[in-house]
Amino acid sequence: RGSARGVVISDDWPGYSLDLFTYPQHYYGDLEYVLIPHGIIVDRTERLAKDITQDIGDNDIVVLCVLKGGYKFCADLVEHIKNLSRNSERFISMKVDFVRLKSYHPGCVGPYFALRHWRKRRRPQRDGEGSGELVPEESQGSGMRGRRNLQNDKSMEDMQIMGEDDLSDLRGKNVLIVEDIIGTGRTMKALLNNIEKCEPKMIKVASLLVKRTSQPDGFRPDYYGFEIPDIFVVGYALDYNEHFRDLNHICVINDQGKAKYRV
Ligand code: 5GP
Repeated sequence: RGSARGVVISDDWPGYSLDLFTYPQHYYGDLEYVLIPHGIIVDRTERLAKDITQDIGDNDIVVLCVLKGGYKFCADLVEHIKNLSRNSERFISMKVDFVRLKSYHPGCVGPYFALRHWRKRRRPQRDGEGSGELVPEESQGSGMRGRRNLQNDKSMEDMQIMGEDDLSDLRGKNVLIVEDIIGTGRTMKALLNNIEKCEPKMIKVASLLVKRTSQPDGFRPDYYGFEIPDIFVVGYALDYNEHFRDLNHICVINDQGKAKYRV
């Protein structure tokens, strides 16, 4: 399908000027540019809802929303699926559940680790001045790489799923996992490992964003909205130290924003 990679945002895409849109005043001066305006997110989500309904709409679905970053995308996706189903012959029965992922060990893969990790690492200096840009560890020197992989391997078993006390409820069900962003894909693979143990009838994954990382084991979800460059993004429920979730557009933060909300 032509749409297999979602809306592809290329590495040289400069984004939209912030002056073209409205956004909360408390973030004035903290953002670099708008990567994806809110309206485009909503439009793309509507199409994903249609694709999902066409593919699995004959089944009852358990939507498993991965908190916290996935709540906006999940809410909008479910709303669109509901609207489509209301106007069709067969009303899809949907249950919505929530999980939150936590890793037992510092350094394990997972949202908490990922955020801590993004915070700490900086793009190496290019012109004598540190750019302060947030980059994934993989693009740093190789020194850390081995150690992180080792920890990540462990984290596959060590990841803790919070909120879904009894995943065994998923046995025999059609599960749609809804996530905000796939980076290396390790978080999703770990979650899938756990969910597969519950023997659901079917598992599909929908992610709003997928990053073009250099990971050889990159994970591709069944449905996704946008393929984006390997940069740190916030907004539409994606956070930087719990900030920017209340921003509607998906944006890139600037140095002032990073410094202001660094912990
Ligand atoms: P992965 O295991 O795929 O590398 O990382 C996935 C998790 O890391 C996501 O669920 C998300 O919590 C976090 N993450 C990865 N990239 C970003 C990003 O650009 N912005 C934010 N806010 N979180 C990210």
